Amino acid sequence: MSLTLRFLGTSASRPTVERNVSSLALIREGETLMFDCGEGTQRQMMRYGISFALADIFFTHMHADHMLGVTGLLRTLGLQGRTEPMNLYGPPGSEKLLWKAITLGSEKQHFEIMVFEITPETPLKRSGYSLVPFAVEHGDRLAIGYQLVEETRLGRFNPEKAREMGVPEGPLWGKIHKGETVTLPDGRTIEPSELVGPTRPGRRIVLTGDSRPSEGTIAAALGADILVHEATFATETGHSTAREAAEVAAKAGVKKLVLTHVSARYSRDTSELEREAREIFPATIIARDGLEIDVPFESTPPD
Ligand SMILES: [Zn+2]
Ligand SMILES: [Zn+2]
Repeated sequence: MSLTLRFLGTSASRPTVERNVSSLALIREGETLMFDCGEGTQRQMMRYGISFALADIFFTHMHADHMLGVTGLLRTLGLQGRTEPMNLYGPPGSEKLLWKAITLGSEKQHFEIMVFEITPETPLKRSGYSLVPFAVEHGDRLAIGYQLVEETRLGRFNPEKAREMGVPEGPLWGKIHKGETVTLPDGRTIEPSELVGPTRPGRRIVLTGDSRPSEGTIAAALGADILVHEATFATETGHSTAREAAEVAAKAGVKKLVLTHVSARYSRDTSELEREAREIFPATIIARDGLEIDVPFESTPPD
């Protein structure tokens, strides 16, 4: 089951020649979720092959470099003849501004658009995973990060052993795999633990949006497969340095740290940020526009 991150914009606050402003696509089993939609994001989607058939855009906060692109994207979707609804999600207080962006310069909506204000720590249940928003620290704006948590998977079924034990192949295998104790035609009883391994954790991805290093991020990111953290610059308030982001990753014990929201002064050459972060947390990479990261299951081949 595939899970891929695709960075559509990795520049802080304003675009540069090399980088567009914030947006990230997460593709899970063919379903595309978008996180933030800075100006020009629709063109980045075309450039990097992201499907326009997405149905959900999640916003971390309402700064212009994270949401201006939604106006043009929705307009293009209308021109393409879209009929499916689109859902926009933002932190508390974002609904009014999102509606302004939706209606700006456009008299008529051609498809249904819904806006939801979501509450930190209240999980959005989806098929096979949950999205858990958490509060981050970004000046006086209410800003949220998102944690994607996949459901725990069933343990591995051992077909060789099942055959050895004379368990007939077919529906009984499925029942045992799902945890049922079954009675065979010959009267023997088979416990699931005889043929099924321990349950396996799903994958976890944590996205901070813009934030100071925060305890909320550390708590959300504990043991996560990937932490995508902003790393703007040392002197800007409400943001993190590469070193601070690396400290968050180290405290949370994540497997990999990806830094984004790169200041224009590092747009071309991020080696200084990389060095700074890797001194604290070696498993760090710096995102660039178009970067694709596959997130595998831990130490088990993909199903
Ligand atoms: Zn920003
Ligand atoms: Zn911001």
